[in-house]
Amino acid sequence: MAYDSNNIFAKILRGEIPCTKVFENEHVFAFNDIAPKAPVHVLIIPKGAYVSFADFSAKATAEEIVALNRAVGEIAREKGIDVTGYRLLANHAEHARQDVPHYHVHLLGGVDLGPCF
Ligand code: 5GP
Repeated sequence: MAYDSNNIFAKILRGEIPCTKVFENEHVFAFNDIAPKAPVHVLIIPKGAYVSFADFSAKATAEEIVALNRAVGEIAREKGIDVTGYRLLANHAEHARQDVPHYHVHLLGGVDLGPCF
């Protein structure tokens, strides 16, 4: 699937749609989910144009991959949920019902999230 530069997260990255920013560095941007499923629900995205985890894991540079993973851990610590716990989720394509075709990691926490399955 080709990257669609008109997807919602691309527009957020370009500042065309507002968001509540949580974190930013050279390679990574993070913001609160508009429809949070937990007290902490942050979306962490690469600044590069990657459709999904499959695309990111295959094509991103090592620097971008490290930056995204480090940002996830840092944001969890900043949100104070690294001791109580959190869940990471990344939907890829149709069977996972990925809605927004720009790779993103959901960081969920701040409450007992219950069983995953
Ligand atoms: P997906 O199903 O693609 O893994 O998740 C997409 C997520 O993006 C959903 O949790 C949804 O609430 C969130 N979302 C969709 N549109 C917007 C938006 O315009 N702003 C923000 N902050 N989140 C959005």
